[in-house]
Amino acid sequence: MPSPAATYDLGKLHGGLRLDARKSASTGLPIQSPPLPEQLILPIEQHVGEPAQPLVGIGEHVLRGQLLAESPGTLGAPVHASSSGKVVAIEPWPVAGRRGDPAPCIVIECDGEDRAVESADNPAPWAETPPDDVLRKILQGGIVGLGGAVFPTAQKLMQATAGELEYLILNGAECEPYISCDDMLMREHARDIVSGAQILLHALELDCAYIVVESDKPDAIGQLAAAMTDAADERLVLKQVPTIYPSGGEDQLVQLVTDREVPSGGLPTDVGCLVQNVGTAAAIHDWLRRGEPLISRITTITGDGIATPMNVRARIGTPVAALAQFAGGYTDSARHLVIGGPMTGKSVSTDRVPLVKATNCILVLSDLPQPGPELPCIRCGECAAVCPVQLQPQQLFWYACADNERQLRSHGLTDCIECGCCDLVCPSHIPLTYEFRMAKARIREQEAEKARAERARRRFEARNERLQREQREREAELTRQKERAKQAGPDAIAEIMKRKQQDDGD
Ligand code: SF4
Ligand code: SF4
Repeated sequence: MPSPAATYDLGKLHGGLRLDARKSASTGLPIQSPPLPEQLILPIEQHVGEPAQPLVGIGEHVLRGQLLAESPGTLGAPVHASSSGKVVAIEPWPVAGRRGDPAPCIVIECDGEDRAVESADNPAPWAETPPDDVLRKILQGGIVGLGGAVFPTAQKLMQATAGELEYLILNGAECEPYISCDDMLMREHARDIVSGAQILLHALELDCAYIVVESDKPDAIGQLAAAMTDAADERLVLKQVPTIYPSGGEDQLVQLVTDREVPSGGLPTDVGCLVQNVGTAAAIHDWLRRGEPLISRITTITGDGIATPMNVRARIGTPVAALAQFAGGYTDSARHLVIGGPMTGKSVSTDRVPLVKATNCILVLSDLPQPGPELPCIRCGECAAVCPVQLQPQQLFWYACADNERQLRSHGLTDCIECGCCDLVCPSHIPLTYEFRMAKARIREQEAEKARAERARRRFEARNERLQREQREREAELTRQKERAKQAGPDAIAEIMKRKQQDDGD
């Protein structure tokens, strides 16, 4: 049983847990570079928003960095080829999605040459580029939030600039057990993060960026401090936070760093803060300084089911099976594959799923913790004590079972970050987080249904209005004809009446 963080020095964070980190197994080696796989599987939806639409056809040869698919709407991110080769299929493929359904993917058979597309312009001299143009450039790089949320970065930045922004917060608080990709990024690429922070400050026209790391990451802290000294940029501040799960949640981090509370149902921008993952900042550096769109990422391959746990920088679209093989293969005890961490990850049934922009961890375990039999709630209050959002999970559970949307909303279900802390401490083994996730999905579906009904109602009213207008126009025309016929005599009136009967019959 993890320790409730309330027994420790918590700083400003309510609740949370001290979890067994289990990260050291994957941080013994430097970041490794696996070979190119035979095939790359690129889902066209790797972001929040509308799926991108393919711009290439089957049989087409593509180059590394070439634009493959673009989002048609206002929220989305483009997808680029992670290496050169031939498009051999555009078809549904297993992905580690929320529902586990196959998703449309562009499949590239790699030619092994890894030839890059020629860039039309050299990497932007961003410091001399107007901030709006920097934001537009970031949009073209296919960059999304790499902490797991995969919200398109450019749109998040653009939305933030519409408000009163004071602080940029770069999130290096990697609080979920097993995951160490951000730690390794900070250790080995601290300068890229600092450079990304400076680009972001310029794009957002801000004067202060906090780079936030947990206090138990001395190597990362040392490398970042050195990079910041070299940059000699007084706008950058390194901040340490206690190692508590889930201190890396956006709202929790804002509170820890600025002592400002994000309002219920609100966003960090409501209190003048914008949070970006350190990996996202490094990806912005890669795109604006080196001209490389988001075609690779660092991910952790770990767990007792992997022979040599490690971190790799792998091309987006690489099958998980190929990465597991590179990490020494599965151990005899490997039984379960989880994409993401043990608290928020998704179990998948096949290693054919590809690495996507959101994949921060590939976790292979011999065993999954089996909760005991579910018992009735004993109202002990443990779940409320550890909830970082200060919800009352036992009450939410009650309303979720009753499908009482009104009460779920008024008790803050939408603020639940699905961290799983309440599950871990519940002595009755009630799957609280699962119920909250399901309740949120039902509410989302009801909202979508309401939106569909509203669109249908508007279409119906518009059609009725059109028919009534046409009827009025016909009647007005008839009146005019009658007026003219009166001048012309009785035969003309008979002819008009006959035409009207025919029209009505039609
Ligand atoms: S921890 Fe479990 S048993 Fe205790 S109040 Fe919460 S739901 Fe009920
Ligand atoms: S899963 Fe939701 S209700 Fe449970 S502790 Fe986390 S934020 Fe609170």
